[in-house]
Amino acid sequence: MKRIGAHVSASGGVENAPLNAQAIGAKAFALFTKNQRQWKAKPLTDASISRFRENLEHAAIEPRFVLPHDSYLINLGHPEQEALQKSRDAFLDEMRRCEQLGLSLLNFHPGSHLKKISEEESLARVADSINWTLEQTSGVTAVIENTAGQGTNLGYRFEHLASIIDQVEDKSRVGVCLDTCHTFTAGYDLRSAEACDQTFAEFERIVGFSYLRGVHLNDSKPDLGSRVDRHESLGKGKLGWPVFEYIMNDPRFEEIPMVLETVDDTIWADEIRQLYAFQR
Ligand SMILES: [Zn+2]
Ligand SMILES: [Zn+2]
Repeated sequence: MKRIGAHVSASGGVENAPLNAQAIGAKAFALFTKNQRQWKAKPLTDASISRFRENLEHAAIEPRFVLPHDSYLINLGHPEQEALQKSRDAFLDEMRRCEQLGLSLLNFHPGSHLKKISEEESLARVADSINWTLEQTSGVTAVIENTAGQGTNLGYRFEHLASIIDQVEDKSRVGVCLDTCHTFTAGYDLRSAEACDQTFAEFERIVGFSYLRGVHLNDSKPDLGSRVDRHESLGKGKLGWPVFEYIMNDPRFEEIPMVLETVDDTIWADEIRQLYAFQR
């Protein structure tokens, strides 16, 4: 079964996210468990945690189909020790929040070398950061997202994801999330069924679908290989519908959260309906 949803708002408290997902007919969702633009956050209260769990059950969404996203400030591949540790501490806090909420995934962008160290060194730091965090937690998988490769961001090549996974000790708790917009603007074509065949075969060869834990369903404003991260509503960007029809009919995308991060949240319910309508 395909589990489609969106990155919904958690404003007013994480407990509101499942209700926002339910309202748009979602079978999965993503959320920030804290303000994504701030380092510090108040701990989750017991009341908030128990209401989150109740609302999830009420929305009939299983915890394994919730894909929390970490703060944009975190850089697990940071070249400088002090800043790296600040990121690691914040990431550990994010993972503990997932544990508290009974969730099993935490989605994050790998990191940035900031032109101060090589890509390889930075990727090794990302892997060390994951190892350090996994040692102190349990039950939550670190889900590395592929990126558009904007600026000095890592993760725009499937080889980057493979390199990180290779250096993570507990392979059972590391996985990846593919973002269709990022994949495309990083240079992997997805504009036709044939292009999807090729790109996903390359993903299988370099990383492997056995590590796929989630998908971000986004059309793209920028063009193939532009290395720019700008999402568009489904069917309205440079990708068009083919990749989404392809994914909805490919069994390799079953039983994982697949969430919209498209620009117009007023049409998410329509986008979700359209996606399910593609299923043959
Ligand atoms: Zn994404
Ligand atoms: Zn993006």
